Formats: sequence, structure tokens, C-alpha cells
Amino acid sequence: MSTDAEIKPELLPTKIYKCKSPDCKAWVREEFATEQQSCPICKGPMLRSIRHLPPIGKPKKKRASKSK
Ligand SMILES: [Zn+2]
Repeated sequence: MSTDAEIKPELLPTKIYKCKSPDCKAWVREEFATEQQSCPICKGPMLRSIRHLPPIGKPKKKRASKSK
């Protein structure tokens, strides 16, 4: 039996751009993309899409700042 308390990262539907080429798996989050984002790998055109990703809206500062 596994516990119900297992914490899974919550995935939210996130706007992304993905590469148009079926052979290329490159994608970027919309918030990191420019309006005319081109594929960082093959330089091809990209399409708007949705992907389920963990939210990054409120980044937790993990490194270097251990406050009491
Ligand atoms: Zn590409």
C-alpha cells in the first residue's frame, strides 16, 4: 500500500511555443519566448501550444539564502 500523502508537483496548463517540425522536440514557455520566437534548435517556426508544467509563478529561492 502506498500512502496518499505522496506529494506530486501540481501541473498547470501552460502556454508554450513548440517547434513546428515533428522531428524537433524543442519548445519554450510563452513567457520566455519573443513574439516571433523561432526554434532554438532548428531555427524553424514555432506554434503556440499548451503543456502541463509545474508552475513557476512564485519561485522559491532555494540557493544561498537560508533565512531563519
Ligand atoms: Zn525545431
